[in-house]
Amino acid sequence: MSGAVRRCAVGQVGATIAGGLNQAVNIETNQSEGSCVEGVERTAYLGCFGERTQHAMTTSDQAVETHGLRKLYGGKPAVDGIDLMIPKGSIFGLLGPNGAGKTTTVRMLATLARPDGGEARVLGHDLVREAAALRRRIALTGQFASVDEDLSGQENLVLIGRLLGFSRKGARARAEELLEAFGIADAANKQAKSYSGGMRRRLDIASSLVTTPELLFLDEPTTGLDPRSRNQVWDIIRRLTAAGTTVLLTTQYLEEADQLADRIAVIDHGRMIAEGTSTELKASVGAGALHVRLAEPGRREAAQTILEKALGVTVEFDSEPRRLNAMVPDDASAGHALAALADAGIAVSDFSLGQPSLDEVFFALTGHHTETETPVAAEAVSKEAAQ
Ligand code: ATP
Repeated sequence: MSGAVRRCAVGQVGATIAGGLNQAVNIETNQSEGSCVEGVERTAYLGCFGERTQHAMTTSDQAVETHGLRKLYGGKPAVDGIDLMIPKGSIFGLLGPNGAGKTTTVRMLATLARPDGGEARVLGHDLVREAAALRRRIALTGQFASVDEDLSGQENLVLIGRLLGFSRKGARARAEELLEAFGIADAANKQAKSYSGGMRRRLDIASSLVTTPELLFLDEPTTGLDPRSRNQVWDIIRRLTAAGTTVLLTTQYLEEADQLADRIAVIDHGRMIAEGTSTELKASVGAGALHVRLAEPGRREAAQTILEKALGVTVEFDSEPRRLNAMVPDDASAGHALAALADAGIAVSDFSLGQPSLDEVFFALTGHHTETETPVAAEAVSKEAAQ
């Protein structure tokens, strides 16, 4: 049960930092702020995704506001001057490949790592000077499942509730509510080690919600999950924000940011390279990604010339010798381009038109690839060409 104990040891009674245990042990605990047990009980019983305790200190409409936020490791910037504005009640996505600086940004905003430069206010609190007060109002679910594997789902949640100051009865009631809401009630009494990846992830997020935070950090909440589990986690996130919690999530998947986030910041090498709504982001790189596979590899150069003329954009050769890829300005132009290939007698064995992958967005924004594998967009439409 070391996991759960450490989880709560860093978040003193009343605090709600709950995830990312191996990260959480590094934060300074605060003994001077006192307990808010009463507030915890009251907030929790307003419902699983219920109203949150209101704090008079908060005046801004922004949940997060940073200017030039920086973090150095070994003298090298992991986060290199990030400016963020995240309105309360919204879902904000930090999108980037491995090593971009997403986790470091979240760790700073959740008070787990001290910034080396810049300024930040989170829920109206100065990130450094008022870290202890801020910790009571936020929660974090880190990248790795931090539940205690030897305990059952129910025991994990009850333990956290007790350590957060709930009565025995109150902790049990809250655990039952969460297990029900997160679809793990049937496995409530089974050891967490017998849970599937998706169930563990849901239990992990539930652990961060024993009290309802005003701001929830989710670090890559669905990495490694199958599509069904991923959709369940997405539903949970949507319900949380519908109840008023602000969510800052990191992801490597454009589709995830697209599905969930009101606004997205794309980061690379510690810097923000683009920010906007999903529509704005995609419009800046093209409406969709067209992938064409030719029947004969020998026609690829001729096909590239025709497609570039029809689309008015650069068409790239894929590593697969018969394929070409392009970001298209709109769906209609993709149709015209394919018709132009047919007119020139170039046979297409198949094509797809779908949402650009993160790698394609990156390439369009930076001129280099992400160096990580990205999943093919789930909504990609693939059709056999009748040739
Ligand atoms: P991932 O998805 O792999 O977690 P990320 O976008 O979250 O990627 P970070 O984990 O924030 O990226 O890492 C940003 C950079 O800072 C990387 O080069 C990483 O190696 C480095 N870094 C992160 N934490 C530390 C640390 N504790 N000590 C030294 N370097 C670190």
